Amino acid sequence: MTGYYHLFIEGCQMNYADVRRVASELERAGFRATDQPDQADVLVLETCTVRQSAEDKAYGWLTSLRPLKERRPKTVIAVMGCLVGVKGNGVLRERFPYVDVFMPPSSDGKPLLSFLQQHEAYALEQQSVAERFAIQDGDVVLPLHERNRLVSAPVAVVYGCSHACTFCQIPLKRGPERSRPVGEIVAEVRSLVAQGVKEVVLLGQIVDRYGKDVPDGPDLADLLRTVHEVEGLERIRFLTSHPSYMTDRLLETVAELPKVCEHIEVPVQAGHDEVLANMRRGYTADDYRRLIARIREMIPNASIATDIIVGFPGETAEQFQATYDLLAELRLDVAHIAKYSPRPGTVSARRMEDDVPPEEKERRRQALDDLQAEIVGEINRRYLGETVEVLVEEQHKGKWRGRTRTNKLVFFEDERDWHGRLAQVAISWTGPWSMQGVVV
Ligand code: SAH
Repeated sequence: MTGYYHLFIEGCQMNYADVRRVASELERAGFRATDQPDQADVLVLETCTVRQSAEDKAYGWLTSLRPLKERRPKTVIAVMGCLVGVKGNGVLRERFPYVDVFMPPSSDGKPLLSFLQQHEAYALEQQSVAERFAIQDGDVVLPLHERNRLVSAPVAVVYGCSHACTFCQIPLKRGPERSRPVGEIVAEVRSLVAQGVKEVVLLGQIVDRYGKDVPDGPDLADLLRTVHEVEGLERIRFLTSHPSYMTDRLLETVAELPKVCEHIEVPVQAGHDEVLANMRRGYTADDYRRLIARIREMIPNASIATDIIVGFPGETAEQFQATYDLLAELRLDVAHIAKYSPRPGTVSARRMEDDVPPEEKERRRQALDDLQAEIVGEINRRYLGETVEVLVEEQHKGKWRGRTRTNKLVFFEDERDWHGRLAQVAISWTGPWSMQGVVV
């Protein structure tokens, strides 16, 4: 063993997939994870900048690490993710000169590994982990504490985004859309399954654009079919979808393949056409209504999640009401609600005034939150007395905890070891955020 690493992670599931790839390189090199930053030889900070609050958190980490680096100058600090961005971030280098390595989002981790190799303190053992687990190039090695423990793993399938919604910094930070080859994705899924993973979540900023950047490339439906073949894999999810790219072919595939869960994440962002146009989303509220109807027709019992931004520049109380009414009408399973945060470099930050006052943004957010809690409470009550299949992820305060195919959190008590297994659970209690039941 050559040392310990500690991960700071913030942001979306893509960040978790990205940082796992870097951790995998460290594991191969013989490093081991620790939950104690003070004891780590290598610190990796996976950052997010989707809203100012996330960016502030990353700066908070960086500032707090200065004393540690002074005390232990040999600690290697690597910063990756959207704070760095694909173009690099010169200001960051100046402000935090004690950071050793900067890596763009979805980096393969090689910059960190070559830095470590150049430092005699870390004569890397290019060692036996790979051999012991018969792991090949391209496979992901899970940290020791996750091997045969981690049940659900995110897997990136499309990097970057080329859509350029006016509010969003992701295309600037993550670069243009690039689909990963099917073979590479399947190799990663196989290696995860060999290490105990039962569910994969295929990720892309617009995951249903998978393959569109490759001439005659496979599409997401083809990819789902191929991943579906992986033996030992129980469930497949995919996110995030964009309303303009959900084809019937994709929905048919979801309906047909047993491992693919009836769970769709498709953000609407706003319910008023003028706001949608200002966001450059490329669809209308009615298009979205029709899409939800189409999903429900083709995938009965589909669980549908959405994202909404409140207080976009120029959003009037009336326009917000249209969003509220749309959410009330469609009765979706989940709504991730965010207050608009101007992001440097985006069209909305450059050309539109952030004119909805903070108190009003908060009022709108709270109104949608309250509405959604009522909606999901009602949807979940329909599960009472039903028996559902739960993929058990862990034990939490004496209770087993897992998810239904529709991504609902379920708790149950049982003496047996259910870790990583599918349980049939009769639901006896439901709330907006979780359910309880007994194994049948
Ligand atoms: N690719 C997805 C969204 C990924 S970003 C899509 O096309 O919809 C995750 C969520 O962060 C977005 O859905 C949006 O709701 C939110 N978000 C992005 N930029 C934001 C901003 N500037 N202010 C507030 N929320 C933002």
